[in-house]
Amino acid sequence: MKPVLLAHHARSGATALNVVTAALSADARTREVEVRFCPGRVSLVDEARQVAARGDLPVLAWSFYSPDFTVSAQDLAWVKARTQDVSLLHLAGGAHATAEPLQTLEAGFDLVAQGEGEPIIVETFAALLDGKLPCAPGGPPPLALGDRLRPSQRLSQHGPAAHSPIPGLAHLADDGALVTRGPGDRRPLDDFPAFNIAAGKWNAIEITRGCVYACTFCQTPTLFKARFRHRSAANVHEHVRAMVRGGGRYVRFLTPTSLSYGATGTEVVLPAIDELLAGCREALGPERKLYFGTFPSEVRPEHVSVEALRVLKRWVDNDSLVIGGQSGSERMLARTRRGHDVEAIERAVRLCVEEGIRPDVDFLLGMPGEDPADRALSMQLARKLVDQGARIHSHAFMPLPGTPLRGESPTEIEPEIALSMSQLESAGAMYGQWRKQQQVGQELVALRKQRASGG
Ligand code: SF4
Repeated sequence: MKPVLLAHHARSGATALNVVTAALSADARTREVEVRFCPGRVSLVDEARQVAARGDLPVLAWSFYSPDFTVSAQDLAWVKARTQDVSLLHLAGGAHATAEPLQTLEAGFDLVAQGEGEPIIVETFAALLDGKLPCAPGGPPPLALGDRLRPSQRLSQHGPAAHSPIPGLAHLADDGALVTRGPGDRRPLDDFPAFNIAAGKWNAIEITRGCVYACTFCQTPTLFKARFRHRSAANVHEHVRAMVRGGGRYVRFLTPTSLSYGATGTEVVLPAIDELLAGCREALGPERKLYFGTFPSEVRPEHVSVEALRVLKRWVDNDSLVIGGQSGSERMLARTRRGHDVEAIERAVRLCVEEGIRPDVDFLLGMPGEDPADRALSMQLARKLVDQGARIHSHAFMPLPGTPLRGESPTEIEPEIALSMSQLESAGAMYGQWRKQQQVGQELVALRKQRASGG
């Protein structure tokens, strides 16, 4: 019986699943593991039944951010209801599972990968191939895991008999207690591929993981630790060449703060950025596109300088830059530990406009402790920046698990501010998912209250 990875390749988890499935190819023990991408729950059930029918073990891999937790749990219940007669494992990872392992396991997942998924998935599949049942280090072994697979026919009867403790793996003990030693290993980014080349599943190349800043609303520092780990320029260039060979037409990057590439602290290391982009341009040639400092990543305002903008202009194709502004209130910038002031935002916008780059400025409204005067200052700044040539990318606060603000609630965005935002949207000067995020924020609060009341 061989384990086969079935990736629930949907919504916010798709990129993470490209990366963790690619990690299997980086280890000789797991290189041959069969991977199938399932774009939704229907195909997940079909593939699981096919794999089980030929006598193999489907391992269903899920990854999701907190806003997708509820719908992922619903999908899981749907899949389980249709595979009750099949031996399989459900393994969940990602930001939400890492921050809320107990809630995730109680939703019905068998195993949770806490922290960085690449080493955990490799060790999990190596254990299964070795005839062992993967489990969390310490605590009682997950005998219940075998029970949950299929009451009448435990996994151990198919082959795996012993257990293999894997750092970063969590599960429930028989009495429902959480068994975990916390997040697993953090390895250099170069140890694993940034996308799944063999499967042709391209995504933005992750060039930096972790963040030295400590914005209170953000999951990144708690998820990946408060320091930077960078993928080497040579490794990034190798990825770009592979992408070009595979027919890719453009490259984007994933990083908490684009102009921190090569840095250990808050400094900007322009030679490192120049080397990174020059090699990417060489690999891409003049026709294919290179995007940096734009979706899905951004630039901190105090990092913007004429010199930095000129380095970017030399190599990249984007004519806009996404700048993290977040608030027009000095009080809220300090309270959320952004590490910059309003003047830094205004300066970054001015420099971009002067250099012919359109600034897209992120704003976050509805933060805990934000009062109407703070929001008025944000709207005042937003309008001023729009007049100077910026567009506003608007967000609403969500109390994300794992963050210092996880126990807080969003403050109301009052009708006058909402109207002002709608007017900017109508004028094409503002875009963003703030309405949907307001709804998700309330769902996260409701979920938290439900758990606190034991529901
Ligand atoms: S918001 Fe950006 S700069 Fe702040 S902690 Fe998160 S990733 Fe780092």
